[in-house]
Amino acid sequence: MQVSPLHIWIADELDQAANTELNLESLRALQLERLNRTLAHASTNSPFYKKQLQNKQTCSLTSLQDLTDLPFTSADDLRQEGLQMLGVSQSVIERVVTLESSGTTGAAKRLYFTGEELARTQAFFRLGMCPYLDPGDRVLILLPGELPASAGNLLATALRPLGVECHIEGIVTDPGRCAALLAEENFACVVGIPVQVLSVLRHPNASRIARGRIKSVFLTSDYVPSALVDDIRRQWGCPALNHYGMTELALTGGVECQALDGYHLREPDLYFEVVDPVDGRPLTAGETGEVVVTTLTRKGLPLIRYRTGDLARFVVEPCPCGSNLPRLSKLQGRIAQHLNIGAGQQLSMPLLDETLFLIPDLTNYQAVLSLEQGVNCLSVTVETAAGSGLTILQEVDRRLQELAPIRTAVATGTLRLAAARLCPKPLPVSATVKRSIVDQRKDP
Ligand SMILES: [Zn+2]
Repeated sequence: MQVSPLHIWIADELDQAANTELNLESLRALQLERLNRTLAHASTNSPFYKKQLQNKQTCSLTSLQDLTDLPFTSADDLRQEGLQMLGVSQSVIERVVTLESSGTTGAAKRLYFTGEELARTQAFFRLGMCPYLDPGDRVLILLPGELPASAGNLLATALRPLGVECHIEGIVTDPGRCAALLAEENFACVVGIPVQVLSVLRHPNASRIARGRIKSVFLTSDYVPSALVDDIRRQWGCPALNHYGMTELALTGGVECQALDGYHLREPDLYFEVVDPVDGRPLTAGETGEVVVTTLTRKGLPLIRYRTGDLARFVVEPCPCGSNLPRLSKLQGRIAQHLNIGAGQQLSMPLLDETLFLIPDLTNYQAVLSLEQGVNCLSVTVETAAGSGLTILQEVDRRLQELAPIRTAVATGTLRLAAARLCPKPLPVSATVKRSIVDQRKDP
């Protein structure tokens, strides 16, 4: 197994030999130096951080642990402060990304990036994917690509120096067409959003894709169900690597290596913490909590202790690929998406995904929690690839009834489970809004 390309990149940044265990103290020293530069820049040039960091001895932290004395930045700050967060003049900004709101209220989140920051993102894309690509290979990109600085276009331009050709198909609205493309044309690599790639893989046209032709799949932007990784391995005969992509992190935070065992992180550019989601105190390695990120090389819109809302834990055991760098476990979904269903039980998308996507031919579903006469009610509608709808519905009901939190809540009378139905119309597809349980219950 090859060592993660990130290990080699970080060794290079630290002036160390890539074939040995890296000295983590030097990595932390490099991050501290970049952090202090970021703090000095932000507290001088960003009106928001000037206010946020006033009276703090921010520019001269003596250790990374001191960072925990500084306040968090929230998604609401991004929504409400907008341009006040910028650390450069607007003329230097090359790309503005507006994130659709998944809720019903509030302004949209906007992120701003300079050309240099986009170039660093592209360098990271190239780095993470280069072990899987040879000159002459073709890559099918199932990400938006209409705008020059869209994710699809940035990726395609980033990969050009590797001598590969990219076809940007955009987000998947016609899985049959994508499956046919993969069957008829020679693509060595597919990049896309998990459930959208799943809809391609489970389309009848996908049975014509020769096993072994696709050499790698990169999944990004949302939770990756294990069933998808297993199906890709079984049907296409290649690994599916999980990429930690998030617009706030200039699209990329880390990526798995061949071991498929957690993200190697973009540590020269980002400093990661895992904190208690309730009181914000730092957690020790191995404990699951909220991922908090500080940017180390960004000038356009620096982020200091940004609460991502994602749940994960640090993995400190050395990676099977040979790297001794700490990794972040696969994300366990969004904190706001762990919904109480009574009797001390919670439901989350990862839990439902891991259960329902084990059903062959199920390609997507929507779960809705509502309140009926004071009792929580869960109803699920499903999309299927083949015409075996009724059998699938029985299987969905059976699997949901067997899920421990649902079983407990139903037994104690705090949850009612409606019979699964087929989706009356196609579920919406999006590149920026993560799939979520629709919570129609009123706040208590
Ligand atoms: Zn590894």
